[in-house]
Amino acid sequence: MRTLLRGGIVLPMTGRAVVFDPGSVLIDGTDIVAVGPVAELDADPRGADADEVVNLGGHAVLPGLHNCHLHSGLLRGTAESMSLWDWLKTYVDPAHRALTPEIAAVASRHCYAEGVLAGTTSVMDMWRFMEGSAAAAAAIGIRATLVPYVADAPGYDYFESIESNRKLLETRPDASTDGRVRAWIGLEHLFYCTPAAFRAAAGLAEEFVTGIHTHSSETIWEVQESLARFGARPIEEMFRRGILGPRTVIAHCVWLDDREIELLAQTGTSVAHCPCSNMKLSSGPARVGAMRAAGVAVGLGSDGEKENNNLDLLEEMKFASLLQKVSTLDPTTGDPWDILAMATIDGARALGLDDRTGSLAPGKRADIVTVSLAGLHTTPVLHGADFNVAAHLVFSACGHDVRDVWVDGRRLVAGGRPLTFDVDAVRAESQAAAEDLFARRAALPAE
Ligand SMILES: [Zn+2]
Repeated sequence: MRTLLRGGIVLPMTGRAVVFDPGSVLIDGTDIVAVGPVAELDADPRGADADEVVNLGGHAVLPGLHNCHLHSGLLRGTAESMSLWDWLKTYVDPAHRALTPEIAAVASRHCYAEGVLAGTTSVMDMWRFMEGSAAAAAAIGIRATLVPYVADAPGYDYFESIESNRKLLETRPDASTDGRVRAWIGLEHLFYCTPAAFRAAAGLAEEFVTGIHTHSSETIWEVQESLARFGARPIEEMFRRGILGPRTVIAHCVWLDDREIELLAQTGTSVAHCPCSNMKLSSGPARVGAMRAAGVAVGLGSDGEKENNNLDLLEEMKFASLLQKVSTLDPTTGDPWDILAMATIDGARALGLDDRTGSLAPGKRADIVTVSLAGLHTTPVLHGADFNVAAHLVFSACGHDVRDVWVDGRRLVAGGRPLTFDVDAVRAESQAAAEDLFARRAALPAE
């Protein structure tokens, strides 16, 4: 089955300011087999007799977006204007204690569906009871890296454990999904996990040849507390505990000093930058420019529905740019091409998926998104020397402008309409599950 995506404004993200305008992309099965100017692919016999032609005049065509840090969840809009650590202790952790596998699976289905509709083709999700998440990802067709919330410090026994993480790894979700759904190892946080959990995580990563994901350095308090408890800043402490490396991704990394950035770069550790969450929880601005300059792969993350409060990576791109500009007082930072790279190819690199996705190039999987440029908010569309579509994607468009989504060559969204799930059914299920969760949380015994 060959599909020709014809006549759009193609941003393949194979290099800065590379554009085919108008351009085409040819998909054969799961893979991209050609990308280039529209006339070139029209003249290609493989394009000329494609089984299906999707005309994309008036649309931007770009690689699918990678959400490098997400928590499935159903707490949207319910805990506002609290400090991060109060909010975790008094609000989020009780919801974890009340969570069931059934509610967790509904939350994943909701978040993956919401992400796909907004152009996300790949998520890294730190969540719980993730056998249900694996099934939800496989059914929807999204690319997913599943990371259980492992915690073993006293008082956190209701989270996932190294043992439950091992069980998820042993289900090998990648084997039944052509690698689309993968299990990794999750460590909630330096303060939620003992050194033994870190050692076990490093061992599991080696045994299963897989990655590790954790949070760090989100607030100044954490850095001070880490210095007091361990005599080291958080990234230094993680280095000591042996989990930094090319298959490790750390969310936030807001309060890093130069030495910590150097440690990330030297070890090949990647970062998931979550600008909306960092602003909303008043955590602070990450030193994205310094990390990128040091060679660290920095992808974008929405963080959870409770700290964002949507899973719209097009919107996240705008915040990523604006936060860099206002925090550095340097208007040359946060350039649209750099931000687009973070949401696509750099995100793929962070997740170790750049050999298969993240850019539009022959041989890569067909993970592709189209964005309508027909709105008043994306007009005018200018070409050549005045090209403004990269800026439109970062500053003007939002997830509602996404029209089509393919993952591994399978079309998940066509003209804004999902093909692998029903929005009303997802909403109804989530509403009921959230009401159940809140009732269960209210009935928890007082601590
Ligand atoms: Zn998080």
